Amino acid sequence: MKECPFCRGSIEERQIEHPHRWGGRLYILRNVRAEVCTQCGETFFSPNTLEAMDKIVEGNNAPSEYVSVPVFSL
Ligand SMILES: [Zn+2]
Repeated sequence: MKECPFCRGSIEERQIEHPHRWGGRLYILRNVRAEVCTQCGETFFSPNTLEAMDKIVEGNNAPSEYVSVPVFSL
């Protein structure tokens, strides 16, 4: 992908931290390879990366860390 389908900004590949919801839980995935729009910040993942994200949270892998997440309501 060369340009963002939403804003036509340029896309660059980065390793990002990605919040991933699965089965009503929230997971933080680090070192996720994504294509990120430098203009609007939209992230795009390859099918392989999406599959890897589902697999790692479905599997019984011990997470490297737990973080607490503050939740607010507006
Ligand atoms: Zn964009």
